[in-house]
Amino acid sequence: MKRRLVDPPSPQNDPRFQEERAKFGFVVGCERCVYFVHRTGGCAHRYPNEQHKVGAFERDATPAGSFCKEFELD
Ligand code: SF4
Repeated sequence: MKRRLVDPPSPQNDPRFQEERAKFGFVVGCERCVYFVHRTGGCAHRYPNEQHKVGAFERDATPAGSFCKEFELD
């Protein structure tokens, strides 16, 4: 039987995530990644990245944020 892979739920509307994100200065999002192309707003690896940008982790943002597995701190 094949397992279907699905993305885990976004933490964006989890109050604890938002509280700890602010409290500890959690760094997340393409804008802080070494592969972010500032000139275009895209990803050097050409990944679709709207859901990985900082704004996607704000409460009720669309698309909902998800963590990128290639993220490398800039
Ligand atoms: S590697 Fe991931 S986190 Fe980095 S810019 Fe590309 S999509 Fe964003």
